[in-house]
Amino acid sequence: MNVREELMDLLSQIKMQLLNSQEIGLDAPYLSKNSLYYLNKGPQLDVAPSEESFDFNSLKEMEQFIGNCDRCKLSKERKNIVFGEGPPDARLVFVGEAPGMEEDLTGKPFIGQAGKLLTNIIKAMGLTRDEVYICNVVKCHPPRNRDPESDEIGTCLPFLKAQISLIKPKIICTLGRISAQSLIDKDFRVTRDRGGWRSFMGIPLMPTYHPAYLLRYPKAKRQVWEDMQEIMLKLGLKDPRRLKNQNRD
Ligand code: URA
Repeated sequence: MNVREELMDLLSQIKMQLLNSQEIGLDAPYLSKNSLYYLNKGPQLDVAPSEESFDFNSLKEMEQFIGNCDRCKLSKERKNIVFGEGPPDARLVFVGEAPGMEEDLTGKPFIGQAGKLLTNIIKAMGLTRDEVYICNVVKCHPPRNRDPESDEIGTCLPFLKAQISLIKPKIICTLGRISAQSLIDKDFRVTRDRGGWRSFMGIPLMPTYHPAYLLRYPKAKRQVWEDMQEIMLKLGLKDPRRLKNQNRD
């Protein structure tokens, strides 16, 4: 029996014990919906639960549930899962595409060059990085920085949705094509469609360029700043630059 078969066997035995204890009137231990899903599903640990079965009490619980994830092929080469970071009740959530190499090494989102630019954008909005939540559509680094593939996005997206339903932000901001296509519409084109309010899970969503794009095309910073001002308006934040100009007048 290999380790996997042994674990499957153990799972079946636990299931039997739980059912037996229920039958003889003993209180079964508390099991979350997610654990029940796996118990009912039987020995198919590589099948991700359908998204509506997720029911976490906290981001910590969710992170523990994800564990040392091997639900998709990205797990084969990644070093660290980049779960996301920020306050669990952040008003603003930024969603990028996938962790890059530096993020893979540290387990933290947006810490490379593009991340530094994102940090500056956040500061220009009058916020700090630790006031916003930053995460990605997929939580593992795709090899050679390739785009995440649809099966990988399909496996990871339910976790992002669960994350968002726990955080309940006032606004979501997608960064770049992949996150907009994953959260809004697969035909979304950033150059054509960015900058207009959309909605995801009933939450206002502003799609903008990815900071990595801004590193290549700095001229697009002006458009991103327009998008950020829309967000600031909705959050009731004052534009610090406008204030400076008003003081000068
Ligand atoms: N690019 C992304 O989309 N996400 C990161 O975390 C880093 C770079």
